[in-house]
Amino acid sequence: MAIASINPATGAVAKTFQPLSRADLKQKIERAAETFAAYRRSDATQRAGWLNRAGETLSAEKQRLATLAVSEMGKPKAQALAEIEKCVSVCRYYADNGSDFLKDEPVPTDAAQSFVRYEPLGAILAVMPWNFPYWQTFRFAAPALMAGNVGLLKHASNVPQCALAIEEVITKAGFPEGAFQTLLVGASEVDTIIDDERVKAVTLTGSEAAGISVARRAAGLVKKTVLELGGSDPFIVLASADLDEAVKAAVSSRTINNGQSCIAAKRFLVEATIADRFETMMTERFRALRVGDPMEEKTEIGPLVSAAARDEVESQVQDLVGAGAKVLTGGRRLDGPGYYYAPTVLSGVDPSWKAAKEELFGPVAMLFRVRDVAQAMEYANGTTFGLGASVWTNDLAEAAQLVDGIQAGSVFVNGIVKSDPRLPFGGTKRSGYGRELGRHGIHEFMNVKAVWIGSVAHPNGRA
Ligand code: NAP
Repeated sequence: MAIASINPATGAVAKTFQPLSRADLKQKIERAAETFAAYRRSDATQRAGWLNRAGETLSAEKQRLATLAVSEMGKPKAQALAEIEKCVSVCRYYADNGSDFLKDEPVPTDAAQSFVRYEPLGAILAVMPWNFPYWQTFRFAAPALMAGNVGLLKHASNVPQCALAIEEVITKAGFPEGAFQTLLVGASEVDTIIDDERVKAVTLTGSEAAGISVARRAAGLVKKTVLELGGSDPFIVLASADLDEAVKAAVSSRTINNGQSCIAAKRFLVEATIADRFETMMTERFRALRVGDPMEEKTEIGPLVSAAARDEVESQVQDLVGAGAKVLTGGRRLDGPGYYYAPTVLSGVDPSWKAAKEELFGPVAMLFRVRDVAQAMEYANGTTFGLGASVWTNDLAEAAQLVDGIQAGSVFVNGIVKSDPRLPFGGTKRSGYGRELGRHGIHEFMNVKAVWIGSVAHPNGRA
């Protein structure tokens, strides 16, 4: 089946691509393995230079790249530009800090010398989602390339132009041919790639179903996996919080990327004494959001990524309303071309409902009322997910209690959950395992080699 680039704002097919044949796929994997043999020995300073140049190329081409992302997945252009800036920052971060992260680490033992050495593994397959087509890829690629690994990208099938553009940027930056290649193939080819012995590990960002499939296949061959999966992040607002700030952040966190972000706040757990005011303020702001053409500078909400994605959100909202939720605004698809869904606020949601435990990938806020911190914690931890959590309070003791008790890969107090090159990023529970970014991220795909050297009689060679 052809790989198609479809504009979600219009439904028009912009371009189609023939997927790689099996023979071409194998050839690319072979090239990756050949490149790795020399690339692993390249100088870290040189790799840092290439990474910096990749950042410069991204900056220089950001208008073109942002336009491509908007036309393939529908995020507002201003957000696409910001996404590219973030990719620049992750290239710079690993260029600046990578050499330090890769240094041998001395560990005192009974040996004359003992240390930990980090060694690259080889060709790493990255199975990536469409929602942040550049950022998701660069936060894998920058540390992987800095570490001396080579990358194979199987991007989501609906963003083929972004996928090809990423390979172009990395090649232009000067990395050796074969250090990073885009494989235009559908999900059905992923098992074949994992099975190839020249592919050493896999990282997947996407749905739980895809993660389980990849991890199962890789486990059969004892290959390492990192999984960055879905989330239904709680956003807890307690009575002592600055309500204006909390509401502003709540709207932004729920609606960024048209509501299609893994770390978007999805469940708003508000202390009962301030819940009426929070609901009114949130609803007013949702009503004022500018929905429209994502290419327009002023647009805040564009279309959902596909007709299927909109159908899914629509059916989840229907389930919630059927269970007893009240629609404060929105609650329907929008007429006209494109896959638009109205920004929606639902109140009176109960954590025991099945639909309230699912990930909602669209501009729909679910509002819950909580009695106190203890109930906020209980609700926050009441799903199978554990990606992030945002907590709003001016009481440090409350904050400390929640930081301690929330089961998530990250907790942000008086701020929205966001990824940052300097901080490890990832989930717990069914949101996945392993970490990207920071010092932790670069070591995920490396052999951590313990070296122990006893006394050596002739340290400078044979006697
Ligand atoms: P998806 O369907 O799982 O797709 C993600 C990638 O996996 C695509 O490249 C897709 O290829 C591939 N894929 C799908 N099924 C597969 C299978 N059975 N075996 C191997 N590969 C497979 O995810 P999505 O619905 O597009 O993305 C949204 C999900 O990603 C949400 O749940 C979101 O929360 C999560 N996400 C998580 C993070 C994080 O960092 N934790 C970040 C962003 C998104 P095709 O496109 O060819 O099907």
